[in-house]
Amino acid sequence: MSITVQSVSKSYGGQLALDEISFSAKQGEIIGFLGPNGAGKSTMMKILIGYILPNQGEVSVGGLDVLSNPTLAQHKIGYLPEQNPLYEDMYVREYLSFCAAIFKVGKERIKQVIEQVGLILEVHKKISQLSKGYQQRVGIAAAILHDPQVLILDEPTTGLDPNQLQEIRNLIKTLSKEKTILFSTHIMQEVEAICDRVIIIKKGKLMIDKPLIDLKESKQQHIEVTFNYKIEEQLIQNLPYLKSFKNNFDMTWHLTFDAKEDMRAAIFDFAKENGLKILELNSHNQRLENLFKEITA
Ligand code: ADP
Repeated sequence: MSITVQSVSKSYGGQLALDEISFSAKQGEIIGFLGPNGAGKSTMMKILIGYILPNQGEVSVGGLDVLSNPTLAQHKIGYLPEQNPLYEDMYVREYLSFCAAIFKVGKERIKQVIEQVGLILEVHKKISQLSKGYQQRVGIAAAILHDPQVLILDEPTTGLDPNQLQEIRNLIKTLSKEKTILFSTHIMQEVEAICDRVIIIKKGKLMIDKPLIDLKESKQQHIEVTFNYKIEEQLIQNLPYLKSFKNNFDMTWHLTFDAKEDMRAAIFDFAKENGLKILELNSHNQRLENLFKEITA
């Protein structure tokens, strides 16, 4: 296991921030660590990187006990804190060289990382001149300079615009080919887009720890489809596994299916068989979103 957390509890003053949390992560997994504000995500991450100590429990990263060997374990961990703390007056290459010196990392590796995170054209710019998305890349570059086995990212996409968000998601996905990644977020779509496994905590308690696929394997699917002309209710009822439907006397249907398979394919077949064309098709996996709301409400 790349990460093992066993019965970890932590309180600040008398207030419990983590309550007997246990989970583990396999090599190469991307884990979405979800929870509303104040759930204890950052606290868990700070314990994982050996920055704060739990009141009880065991934590190991890359097979090393973080609590008894923090320095050795830290060599296996890359960490991007929530407020990416960059020296904004420094130039990108200068900053990365500075970070590399701390880890005794050579020039070749700096070059490699700059390429990997897509900063080649930015290396001579001042960090303060970069967009938030590129500043995040600098933070991620600094976190992976020493080639850690595990990458811990605290809300890496907060505050990014949609394009930057996509770029950072892609970067996280690419990095996961060689690293185990645990990242916190409070955005469910984020988890759907990139994670293998979802951990949800609330008020310091672990509520869910499941592969994303299991959560997605809901039987209920909501699909909105617009055909190129109006059809009768009787015809739409021929769709298999249809649980309910709604149509506002136009060409758009709101369909709910009770099926495990992706019903979009069946809708395409249905359209073809009946000489219809699909003008628009949207599938809403409300379950994940609702599940998160239910659990964390
Ligand atoms: P999250 O990252 O999920 O928003 P945190 O781990 O930051 O949650 O916080 C969990 C709880 O612990 C919150 O109630 C927060 O106020 C409290 N907390 C976090 N850090 C400290 C601290 N250094 N001192 C006192 N309380 C803290």
